[in-house]
Amino acid sequence: MGRYLPEAWPLPSPDGLNRDYFSAGRLLVQQCTACGAVQHPPEEVCFRCQSFRFHNVESAGLGHVYSYIVAHYAVSPLLKESVPYGIALVQLDDYPDVRIVGNVLNLPPEALRIGLPVRVIFEAAADEETGDHLLVPQWEAVE
Ligand code: ZN
Repeated sequence: MGRYLPEAWPLPSPDGLNRDYFSAGRLLVQQCTACGAVQHPPEEVCFRCQSFRFHNVESAGLGHVYSYIVAHYAVSPLLKESVPYGIALVQLDDYPDVRIVGNVLNLPPEALRIGLPVRVIFEAAADEETGDHLLVPQWEAVE
């Protein structure tokens, strides 16, 4: 399966905070060890209690489209052949405080709608510059 956006489009640059999210092949979200709040994207500090202690919890990877846009204008020449494409904000069923931006890979952008049930899938990508092998969480519509 090719990537949703062109191969030349830059990949995420994982760091200590988000490397697990972009490479585990499971949908991991950050949970505060002190107060239990779950937040995304991973941050240094808990937005609820300001703790610095976290662990990952695994989501079942089911959710629904909370909101979306369809990009008709290519913000970069690299995206010229990709427009129109959809960008979805997915709210997780098991961690409803978490909303994750991504693409719904198996769906034409005009079929995106609020409330659409989706599940996570992982888009494999290798960054030749950094040597990173990523499994980027993306979405597919659930029939
Ligand atoms: Zn906390």
